[in-house]
Amino acid sequence: MQKQTRVRFAPSPTGFLHIGGMRSALFNWLFARKSDGVFMLRMEDTDRERYVPEAVKQIKDSHDWLGLTPDESAVQSERLDIYKQHSEQLVENGQLYRCWCSPERLDKLRETARAARQPFKYDRHCLTSPGDPDKPHVLRFKIGDTPKSIAWDDAVRDHMEFETGDLDDFVCIKTDGYPTYNFANVVDDHEMEISHVMRAEEFLASTPKHLLLYAAFGWEPPVFAHMPQVLGPDGKSKLSKRHGAQSVLEYRDQGYLPDAIINFMAQLGWNEGSGSTKEIYSRQELIEAFTLERIQKSPAIFDPERLTWLNGVYIRSLAPSELAKLSEPFWSTEAKSSSSEHKLQILGLIQERLKFLAEIPELTDFFFTDPDPKALKQFGKLQPSESKRLLEASLEVLGKSTFEHDSLEKALRALADELDVKTGALFGVLRIAITGKVAAPGLFETMVALGEDSTLRRLKAATSALR
Ligand code: GLU
Repeated sequence: MQKQTRVRFAPSPTGFLHIGGMRSALFNWLFARKSDGVFMLRMEDTDRERYVPEAVKQIKDSHDWLGLTPDESAVQSERLDIYKQHSEQLVENGQLYRCWCSPERLDKLRETARAARQPFKYDRHCLTSPGDPDKPHVLRFKIGDTPKSIAWDDAVRDHMEFETGDLDDFVCIKTDGYPTYNFANVVDDHEMEISHVMRAEEFLASTPKHLLLYAAFGWEPPVFAHMPQVLGPDGKSKLSKRHGAQSVLEYRDQGYLPDAIINFMAQLGWNEGSGSTKEIYSRQELIEAFTLERIQKSPAIFDPERLTWLNGVYIRSLAPSELAKLSEPFWSTEAKSSSSEHKLQILGLIQERLKFLAEIPELTDFFFTDPDPKALKQFGKLQPSESKRLLEASLEVLGKSTFEHDSLEKALRALADELDVKTGALFGVLRIAITGKVAAPGLFETMVALGEDSTLRRLKAATSALR
């Protein structure tokens, strides 16, 4: 019988989780869903010096928000007994040995290695002259004396091979009793019956150590799939804060939609292949199309503009009521007291242009606050006297027109003819006077949404400001 697919995302809560890290979670989740398997979230929190408690919540909230809910979860710091038992087993069979060397001594060894341009390798001092087992010590893995090669067939990188001669007797249990990443990771992947280890390429170099541990325990290793790095927009270095990479929750707070983020991340290092140009996938489509074979080897590049574009696509596809619901937290204080109908009407005017929901206050402020009456001086293309002439004439016409879209349009088009100016010039002047902006939603729709009183008040204020 084929083993059940069990995968895990195993972040170390040492900082905020950004799109690059979350991409690993997504690929694991997609693979689990595709194979009717289990997706697990495992907090690898054994590095107590770098541990950031808020990161744990941030990681969980990011999963919840994106809908990548784990089927199972585990926390390594709650499993210390298990690592201890396993380490004792390897001490007994001679694979692990105690080491009492002080950080100062190790620093010196490192310094000497650096000076000789050699990779650092622990000199096994404590293997030949052991200390007192009751005194604080670490447990190191004894790499065999005869160098051999360690190979595996990676589901993404194909055949991989490393020499043990390059490896140091790495630490498995630290002086504080906590396991290192390498040790806890292997014990857990085995104990949790992980079938596929899908993780970022930066862990490739750790895999030989992991394979040595599997062999020392006599366990069968899982399938490894090392996913390509996500580079910053410069295409040079790993995506980081420096590139403006934000935490997943910052995207939530800016009004990005979970589906847009999922779609974007899915294409960071994976594509459907066979010349597919499909850009927008539903979750279900991603689950169906996803395969390990189509994870690419070459690095992915994070393109923030593509993410913003994609989010705009998703926003445009929302039903008005859905957009209204999602927008609720984003309105400015001035807008908060407006009726839901009014807000719905305004959203209808900006939905086409909206790229993320935090843009709402900026795109709609003029609906709630009168603009600077002097805006025409700043942005207007015409002479002030000409602008003034157009505004005065418009005020006269508007006073007589019913305040509905078609009548307003008809009256103002007729006015442009009568004054012998281009409609673009007339509408431009009116748009700036009414909104304070050069780019705004359709003029007549805006006038209707503002209502007659506000529109006329703004036109009068702008006229008086043009002296
Ligand atoms: N805890 C490792 C990290 O920091 C996980 C590596 C793995 O998935 O094996 O991402």
